[in-house]
Amino acid sequence: SWKTLKTIISLGRSSPSSWVQLAGHQGNFQLSDGGEVLKLYSETEAMCLDNLMRDPLRPFVPQYHGLLTQGEERFIRMEDLLDGLTRPIIMDCKMGIRTYQEDELVKCRTAPTLRSDMYHKMLQADPGALSAEEHEQRGVTKLRYLRWRDTTSSTSALGFRIEGIMMENGNVQRDFRKMLSLVQVTEVLLYFTRSRLDILRAYHCRLQALGDALERSSFFSSNEVIGSSLLFVHDYSGKANVWMIDFGKTTPTPESIRIRHNVQWTEGNREDGYLIGLASLTSSLHQAITL
Ligand code: ATP
Ligand code: MG
Ligand code: MG
Repeated sequence: SWKTLKTIISLGRSSPSSWVQLAGHQGNFQLSDGGEVLKLYSETEAMCLDNLMRDPLRPFVPQYHGLLTQGEERFIRMEDLLDGLTRPIIMDCKMGIRTYQEDELVKCRTAPTLRSDMYHKMLQADPGALSAEEHEQRGVTKLRYLRWRDTTSSTSALGFRIEGIMMENGNVQRDFRKMLSLVQVTEVLLYFTRSRLDILRAYHCRLQALGDALERSSFFSSNEVIGSSLLFVHDYSGKANVWMIDFGKTTPTPESIRIRHNVQWTEGNREDGYLIGLASLTSSLHQAITL
């Protein structure tokens, strides 16, 4: 379970600094004594997991065990998806053709402030993307940053991006942000699975089953799924599975809007492109298998 915690910490957003939090400060995640994963409470995510327990997607998400209060803090209790794996190898793919909510855009426009933290993230990753004006201001708008993040990764083009991979020795790699083509993704999949056909096939099969379940799911047809990930986990013994995680930005759509999940987004239509990402991943796995 120490291993799980380490994995959560290293693939989550606040990872580099969270290492320090392992020493006992409060982080986003904890493990319960019973081996459950505890994630800092969000009403949105708890609502999703609760609904998912009564949906065809239930076999594809961590089992939800309700809430836990610890002092001032509340946590969501869920199944540890690494349970039963020996030295797991893990990949987190953030799904969808955009990773921010439409509401965030509206907020950005009404209060357009310059963000120096976002400027520095861009400066570090892609200094050439910044304009002379942005350099001078040492800041970018959040709107600019959100768009940059999705268009310079495979998010916009393929409908998902690889957020991180952890190999069996605990080594974490996160420099996949600039993988833009399916061919590059296929190479990563071959590396990640060490080209093991049994594992590639198990993943492919699971994604197909997920596709079927998504079609039957009323949760999926009534929610805008933003910033959610598919977590790929396997180990040397050949156990391999894929799970839907992270529903912190998954919200019910208004009655009047029915999301199709497989068409392009134009502001107002709420489309998330989840199925575009699933199709890309499935065909990349297929490529890896047939190479
Ligand atoms: P972000 O919004 O930045 O993507 P987050 O704080 O919402 O991050 P998650 O994406 O839910 O966190 O989880 C972060 C990492 O924790 C995942 O990449 C995965 O490695 C691990 N993780 C999350 N939930 C589980 C679980 N139920 N079992 C095992 N590992 C998990
Ligand atoms: Mg996440
Ligand atoms: Mg999240």
